[in-house]
Amino acid sequence: MSDIETLPANETNTTPIASDGALVIEDLHASVDGKEILRGVNLQITKGRVHALMGPNGSGKSTRANVLMGHPKYQVTRGRIRFKGQDILGLSTDERARLGIFLAFQYPISVPGVPVANFLRASMKAMRGNELPVREFRKLLRGQMELLKVDEAFVSRYLNEGFSGGEKKKNEILQMALLRPEIAVLDETDSGLDIDALRTVSEGVNALLGPDMGVLIITHYQRILNYITPDVVHVLVNGRVVRTGGRELVERLETDGYDPIIREVGENGHQSS
Ligand code: ADP
Ligand code: MG
Repeated sequence: MSDIETLPANETNTTPIASDGALVIEDLHASVDGKEILRGVNLQITKGRVHALMGPNGSGKSTRANVLMGHPKYQVTRGRIRFKGQDILGLSTDERARLGIFLAFQYPISVPGVPVANFLRASMKAMRGNELPVREFRKLLRGQMELLKVDEAFVSRYLNEGFSGGEKKKNEILQMALLRPEIAVLDETDSGLDIDALRTVSEGVNALLGPDMGVLIITHYQRILNYITPDVVHVLVNGRVVRTGGRELVERLETDGYDPIIREVGENGHQSS
């Protein structure tokens, strides 16, 4: 599969539109505690598009998201991740964030003593390098709070402490709305959400979509993809992207499950036919 552009960074002007501003993952191998989880992932996240990354439990979806942000637990043993003409593997997590990459965690951490609003303001400051005037920040925050249907009390509460699944996810989307990343990765944003929260969170994401942002929605289920329509669908099995296609791939997975694809590609994730 060669939807991966291999042009050097200094030739970006001649790169086809599809790769302009794309985040390109090439032959990525990564291990945790000496165990190889990602075994040659190729994936391109293009701005202006919604990508879905689907796959069975344990196929390496969260590992891939964590490696993208530079989580210290994961060792990259081979491959590259390029964004804006740089190999980002040499960058720290906050350098990656400042470059415009955002990850909404599958399991967000709680920070007792830090109210949501303060956290959001501090994140914005860290990203922009300067502080937004309080009045402006409040206005921006209020608009997003309305969209995500969270009330005043929510942003005064301590970050993720005692939050329901839905509140944690709304907080992540709130953060994304304020930070306006160029590449956003949402890891199982649908997990633990009831149908109303799922709809609200999806509306929040949809409202942010546009030509300047590429999104990767990591999910096990079709559910969230009924609300956020993917342009491209990737299937990860055993640490490799074994299928890339359009929407129809989601429907096929929903009807048949992952088994037929796993059988087709064999245990190693290698195409057997
Ligand atoms: P997914 O998100 O697709 O369900 P993960 O990336 O979370 O999959 O996990 C992939 C594999 O890596 C699993 O077999 C899991 O047990 C293993 N793994 C993930 N994180 C760790 C860790 N910190 N220590 C040991 N094994 C891990
Ligand atoms: Mg996961």
